[in-house]
Amino acid sequence: MLLITGGAGYIGSHAVIDFLEAGYDILIFDNLEVGHIEIINTLKKIGNVKFEKGDLRNLADVQKLFNNYKIDGVIHFAAYALVEESVKNPSKYYENNVVGTLNLLNTMIKNDVKKIVFSSTCATYGEPNYVPIDENHPQNPINPYGTSKLMVEKILDDYDKAYDLKSIKLRYFNVVGADSKCRIGEWHDNETHLVPNILKSVLQESKEFKIFGNDYNTKDGTCVRDYINVEDLVQAHRLSYEYLLKENKSDVFNLGTQNGVSVKEVFETCQNVLNKKINYKIENRRAGDPAMLYADTSKIYHVLNWKPKRTLEYSIKTASEWEKRNEQQK
Ligand code: UDP
Repeated sequence: MLLITGGAGYIGSHAVIDFLEAGYDILIFDNLEVGHIEIINTLKKIGNVKFEKGDLRNLADVQKLFNNYKIDGVIHFAAYALVEESVKNPSKYYENNVVGTLNLLNTMIKNDVKKIVFSSTCATYGEPNYVPIDENHPQNPINPYGTSKLMVEKILDDYDKAYDLKSIKLRYFNVVGADSKCRIGEWHDNETHLVPNILKSVLQESKEFKIFGNDYNTKDGTCVRDYINVEDLVQAHRLSYEYLLKENKSDVFNLGTQNGVSVKEVFETCQNVLNKKINYKIENRRAGDPAMLYADTSKIYHVLNWKPKRTLEYSIKTASEWEKRNEQQK
């Protein structure tokens, strides 16, 4: 079976659906700190899913997992992923994202499991020297979150040379949207992300939407990012895993759309999709936000023949349907 760590979380759970629909048997390992048991219950109704609650920082949990199941490969999502929090509490990030991952990798090697797809991030590039950012852009992260992911990238390179562990590292840009059938979606108890925050401000009167900074050196003064649909993104994980099975070669790819979109443009697209005027307030810049990040995605297109298919409008529409449903369910 295929082990998916962090399968109860936002991106991990969408990956579980994609792999299930392609016929894989899935084992989810998650500590349910950020993920939700309700998501696991939904996934169990879709296909053959086993769930083990545990923590990567606890080596005994990881060893038990490999003793109890026949694992063929790993898709590794479990990690903390908030830039601002990582600046305030780096120990939490290095402990989970680096030490936890080492527990996983060492147990894989011991059990002769030699294939892994790893969630990395455009935060490993730091403040860009040029855009669009390709995979050869220098990696100088400016926060502990990005550093923790870069450390794992380096560990994976060394483990390939020493132990023949093959990995595909996927550097995500900004992930948006929800399952097309609205079964699951983005669900963070303390939401910090742009699209869900805009949608929450529409659904909940107490939540005012704030734009963090309009004095950046960009087309309209707000930050520019590259918003990639979650279903497109997870499909690239399956193609990556199948590439590992077929070619047995490590590689690294950016995952984005190649379009730089400003915060204001995302906001306006939300207004258009919802056909509603939304209030907003301009706030100070948020610490650690680079002005402009968007991907050159030609490499993954050439090697895996992967291209994003879904538009930002579509992502906002699915995110909005999920947000409404999840508010009602809570
Ligand atoms: N942002 C914003 N208001 C919010 C949340 C985010 O203006 O309520 C901005 C943020 O400053 C950044 C962009 O939206 O420029 C994307 O932020 P997000 O947290 O979604 O992703 P990140 O780029 O940090 O991974």
